[in-house]
Amino acid sequence: MDQETPRLTRESLYLSIAEVVAERSTCRRLRVGAALVSPGGGVSIGYNGAPKSMPHCTSETCDPNGEKCLSTVHAETNAILAAARTGMTIVGGHLYCTHSPCENCARMIINSGILRVTFISLYGEEGIKLLISAGIKIGTGKPSDWE
Ligand SMILES: [Zn+2]
Ligand SMILES: [Zn+2]
Repeated sequence: MDQETPRLTRESLYLSIAEVVAERSTCRRLRVGAALVSPGGGVSIGYNGAPKSMPHCTSETCDPNGEKCLSTVHAETNAILAAARTGMTIVGGHLYCTHSPCENCARMIINSGILRVTFISLYGEEGIKLLISAGIKIGTGKPSDWE
């Protein structure tokens, strides 16, 4: 490949991964994906869905017109848990998400040692406020950037 050929940026790569991962979501209300990148370059992924071996969202547990899905573990939390399951270090890591984290996920992100969060769509401002107040760097981007 010659040097004139555009190359996908790192940010766009991981945001695109988060977007693809979101397509695995089992939530009826909203599909969310996350890619958590360790300082060493390892990647763990997460999407929102019911806990393992529990039934997927139904009209009772997940109201498409409601404010909250009651049965899922969120994508950001699942990416952190996937790192825990596989032993991937996430202290100093960078989390890429299709949506900005909710307050609960923001609290877990803060305590996990993740230092940066980049998201595509804003999903409420409370989580972002928490992250900023904890000194976590926030970025927004779209997976269409080339270098
Ligand atoms: Zn749901
Ligand atoms: Zn959340």
